[in-house]
Amino acid sequence: MAVDAFGRSVDYLRISVTDRCNLRCVYCMPAEGVAWKDRSEILTFEEIERFTVVAAATGISRIRLTGGEPLVRAGIADLVRRLRAVDGIESIALTTNGTLLPRLAGDLAAAGLDGINVSLVSLDPDVYARVTRGGKLAEALAGMEAALAAGIRWVKVNVVVVRSLEQDPVSFAGLTMDRPIHVRFIEYMPLGGGDDCGGPGESAGDWTRAEQVPSDEILARLTAEGAAAGLGRLAPVEADGAPAGRGPAKYYRFEGAEGTIGFISPLSHSFCDQCNRLRLTADGKLRTCLFSDDELDVRKALRHGTEAGLLTIIDAALAAKPESHNMRVGTLRRMSQIGG
Ligand code: SAM
Repeated sequence: MAVDAFGRSVDYLRISVTDRCNLRCVYCMPAEGVAWKDRSEILTFEEIERFTVVAAATGISRIRLTGGEPLVRAGIADLVRRLRAVDGIESIALTTNGTLLPRLAGDLAAAGLDGINVSLVSLDPDVYARVTRGGKLAEALAGMEAALAAGIRWVKVNVVVVRSLEQDPVSFAGLTMDRPIHVRFIEYMPLGGGDDCGGPGESAGDWTRAEQVPSDEILARLTAEGAAAGLGRLAPVEADGAPAGRGPAKYYRFEGAEGTIGFISPLSHSFCDQCNRLRLTADGKLRTCLFSDDELDVRKALRHGTEAGLLTIIDAALAAKPESHNMRVGTLRRMSQIGG
């Protein structure tokens, strides 16, 4: 098992397979979009597989594929099949906006995908269209249904909470009542805009502190409004009853519900002391922390170096992994360019 300089076991690798996306969510990309990387800069499936083999040898056992939108990358199910076959890799999950799942969920399940997270910012079609700048809620919901129907083991829904969007947490809770859907509310993070922000401050890109909603506020609303809506009592879920993933979410469940409700609170309840992950960007840079712009050049090592060189890079990443993200405001890359 790989251990970093602060004694944390690192067994989880998030791999971004593309910086491209078929949506333009306001909290993720600027209105003018971002310049796509040239295809030659993006890692090939062979390169991702080679890196995964080396990473697995150091103790990485779980992988999440993300982007951009991972389902716009042609042949994504093939990549899942190849990575699932790597010695030491025990699970592969994928984060998606879900809109392309109706046609891909079956292939992904057959390829061995263990889990899918569908990002759904609102269950109101008009809000969804506005926030995703043109997305259709019905397509994302059909994607979520397709994942369930395909038999993918863990289906989670990611909800980034942004104050001015006035999202209704109870409507999301309804998804968990009679199906094994795990809804997770995520605090809106200050990513991107780092080039116009000189350090910790109040805003980065489109993020401002006023837009952030602490998880405790959503929990309090769900407890009160859920009971009023007849969903019953919301109680914490013991660690062994939480959906798989060993991630940072804290889980709750309405009485009798099949699914759970999780909270991911990087800002109000830092979980850096349990951070177990590295991130590989689509253009082959290894990041030690979502908020750290210090990147190690895996692509160069893959194209011009040896497997030993890749091992050295992973060791260097473990040594450089910061103790905490220090509530840094702003990064040079947006979430879509890092891999959410
Ligand atoms: N396109 C896929 C999707 O929509 O899920 C995968 C990539 S997206 C960047 C991954 C996750 O990052 C999504 O759940 C998205 O909501 C989240 N995300 C993007 N920007 C964020 C921000 N500023 N704060 C918190 N989460 C963010």
